Amino acid sequence: MFKKLFQKSDSSSSEQTSVNANVQQSSSSQADTSKHNNQANKDRGRSSQKRRKNTKKDAPIKKWDESQFVVPEIEGKTRFHDLELEPELMHAIADLGFEYCSPIQAQSLPNTLKGLDLLGKAQTGTGKTAAFLVAIIDDFLKNPISEKRYAGEARALIIAPTRELVLQIADDARALTKHTDLTVHTLVGGMDYDKQKRKIQDQLVDILVATPGRLLDFSSSKDVYLDQVEVMVLDEADRMLDMGFIPQVRRIVRATPHRDNRQTLFFSATFTDDVMRLAEQWTCDPVSVEIEPDSVATDRVKQYVYLTSTEEKLTVLCNIARDEDTDNLIVFANRRDECRRLHQQLERRGFKVGLLSGEIHQSKRVKTLDAFKSGRIKVLVATDVAGRGIHIDDISHVVNYTLPEEAEDYVHRIGRTGRAGKDGVSISFACEDDAFRLPAIEELLGSPIHCEQPPEALLKPL
Ligand code: AMP
Repeated sequence: MFKKLFQKSDSSSSEQTSVNANVQQSSSSQADTSKHNNQANKDRGRSSQKRRKNTKKDAPIKKWDESQFVVPEIEGKTRFHDLELEPELMHAIADLGFEYCSPIQAQSLPNTLKGLDLLGKAQTGTGKTAAFLVAIIDDFLKNPISEKRYAGEARALIIAPTRELVLQIADDARALTKHTDLTVHTLVGGMDYDKQKRKIQDQLVDILVATPGRLLDFSSSKDVYLDQVEVMVLDEADRMLDMGFIPQVRRIVRATPHRDNRQTLFFSATFTDDVMRLAEQWTCDPVSVEIEPDSVATDRVKQYVYLTSTEEKLTVLCNIARDEDTDNLIVFANRRDECRRLHQQLERRGFKVGLLSGEIHQSKRVKTLDAFKSGRIKVLVATDVAGRGIHIDDISHVVNYTLPEEAEDYVHRIGRTGRAGKDGVSISFACEDDAFRLPAIEELLGSPIHCEQPPEALLKPL
């Protein structure tokens, strides 16, 4: 297996500048294993025979400058303008309509932009994806590589536990790199291996977003090389632990440069002892940033708990879905079989409904999400794993058909609504089988949730 060589056409600088403080500190030792050391690459069996022309996108022609992106200074808020980001990145941030940094961005970016490692306690909905992407993209724009690069050599590696999350992160990365020539690739299970391989071999790999299993396959077969990774992001580390991915992630981390020679950004919604142990092993003097769940989306979400019998749940759900105030709705249930049944019951009653669960093929899930985003599907039934990390800003209602076994999942679920400055509604059904889960949720939220009987209108027979 030979590695293909790419020659970057615009060689603006003759030497690569180190991208982070850790690398800078140890630049002499890194020289021996440099990605740009051709001899070393040849010794590893990577052929420089198969030269290919650079297939990267052309640089944008459009002129843009920051005068078109005016954001007034507000005390206590950080603007992206205050971070001295590269203009192409600022342009994308302006296009996305981001004005001020979210708390995790304001606290982490001043450190991560300097190349420091980070331990971030934060969930989806806090803006953590942009927090790590902005640091990576600004870094790569400030430190382009002008020398020869090989196919499949990733500069940034982002590992996330689920396929949906990987695709969402990649979408965000593409939006933030749209005015640059940086490339974004994804590797996820359940999708065509050869197609992913062709894509990764035909372009340079700047940002690689992947689930652990498929990434390990690519790394083992030497279709992807991780030994030149400059920045590694581990997203939702607690979820990776829960899903049993840690042995795979360990092997992946071992394939990247030593933690002294890479920047590591480690995110988890919770920090149990197990998660802390991993963070200690993989990061180097990290800066800690903590965003508490109650400052997440929950303050924009009106939460209701309806005391229902198990039999009443379907009626109440259908009436909520039919209500004119319900633009769209995600329904969470704990198990795949519950979700499957619920999906069938709703479909039989004429709802336009989609199903997101681990047993649904990836390509179908992507289509379902697209249909939901475009409004062709009004109701989405999802398990926690499949529903986690869905970045859709216009979800009006979330229903917890069954209360989650883990209190943290409640926060994740209701965080699907009330996003991007909009208000949302969450309705949880508490029946005789799951009401006992409420105290743990209230403890996590730090406040009681009012429980009530469902309004008469929602009990109307179907
Ligand atoms: P995340 O926590 O990464 O799932 O992000 C939650 C949502 O917030 C996404 O839809 C982002 O596009 C959006 N977002 C991220 N950063 C900002 C920001 N600074 N201002 C406004 N929206 C943002």
